Amino acid sequence: MNVLVTGGAGYIGSHTIIELITAGHSVIAVDNLSNSSRESLHRVEKITKRTIPFYQIDIRDKPLLTKLFDENDIDAVIHFAGLKAVGESIQKPLLYYENNIDSTLELLEVMTKHDVKKLVFSSSATVYGSAPIPYAESMPTGIGITNPYGRTKYMIEEILSDHSKSDPSFEYTTLRYFNPVGAHESGLIGEDPNGVPNNLMPFVTQVAVGKRDKLQIFGNDYDTIDGTGVRDYIHVVDLAKGHLAAIKNSKPGYYAYNLGTGEGMSVLQLVHAFEKASGRPIPFDIVARRAGDLPEYYADATLAEQKLGWRAEKTIDDACNDSWRWQSQNPNGFVTIN
Ligand code: NAD
Ligand code: UDP
Repeated sequence: MNVLVTGGAGYIGSHTIIELITAGHSVIAVDNLSNSSRESLHRVEKITKRTIPFYQIDIRDKPLLTKLFDENDIDAVIHFAGLKAVGESIQKPLLYYENNIDSTLELLEVMTKHDVKKLVFSSSATVYGSAPIPYAESMPTGIGITNPYGRTKYMIEEILSDHSKSDPSFEYTTLRYFNPVGAHESGLIGEDPNGVPNNLMPFVTQVAVGKRDKLQIFGNDYDTIDGTGVRDYIHVVDLAKGHLAAIKNSKPGYYAYNLGTGEGMSVLQLVHAFEKASGRPIPFDIVARRAGDLPEYYADATLAEQKLGWRAEKTIDDACNDSWRWQSQNPNGFVTIN
């Protein structure tokens, strides 16, 4: 298949492109590089030994997006492009609604015009809000979401679902990611956040490599195994393979699947696993809870296995080893040559 990957230079998009190419698909990448580097796609080209057609455009720019579709015979779209920083979304909600929702609407219009009817969308476990754990696809979504970023994901899911009802020939697959961690085993690509990382794993790897002094652990008084927050950490390569399974099993209608391991892990457990993998101590302070954080959630991962034939294969030790290889070989991330 000829697959357009929006947000293809980003963390999950770049890993997914490798899996698509390995499985025999052709890929076109589009990204405005607002949160990524051109270098990541050069590295993907090095790994896959392929040239990846790349459009550096903002997908809200309809004339340019139309030109891209005019120039390429696209069979399916995997839509990663979007802004994803929870804290920033609270400071700049309009930016998040505008970027994430408008870009999706423009994309859908251009796809419709070009008769491209297969889309895989990057959603998030955050759509479950305050649902009981483990989160299952049968549960209601949209209740108790704590930030605008999460609400954009929920709203886009609703848009896709509504649209599929009006045009049943569209094939929509929403993938709700739990917490992506790890990196490609080559150590050539990985997560490269701008500024101070918001997420746990990149913060931990930056402490290990000496870029930051100490980790701050947000609360140890939750009702969890050791008092620290519990999440479902999924290796980014497993996640990438979930997109292959979604494309392969795509069918008319709207379907949502969790992509997680089904297992919860605490912050302290992850820190200890990383110390073991890297051989480096991770000094930390316990600080106040972070506003909006939930104590514990993880996936019920059975539906994706039943319907897509996909399940996570890699372990947290694999993820820690791979994150450490990436960070230690690239202490400053991608050298930006946009
Ligand atoms: P990322 O920031 O690395 O990748 C997103 C890419 O989209 C970036 O390269 C950015 O430059 C690009 N982009 C943003 N707005 C654009 C626009 N208007 N036009 C063109 N390009 C645009 O993030 P990621 O971690 O790879 O996440 C990919 C997707 O998965 C996002 O939609 C994110 O919300 C979702 N997601 C991520 C996580 C996570 O923890 N990483 C969890 C759940 C869901
Ligand atoms: N966390 C932490 N310190 C950090 C970043 C995160 O203690 O610097 C905790 C956070 O409170 C949560 C877990 O690590 O319990 C995962 O947080 P992350 O931001 O990576 O993902 P989230 O699940 O919040 O989207």
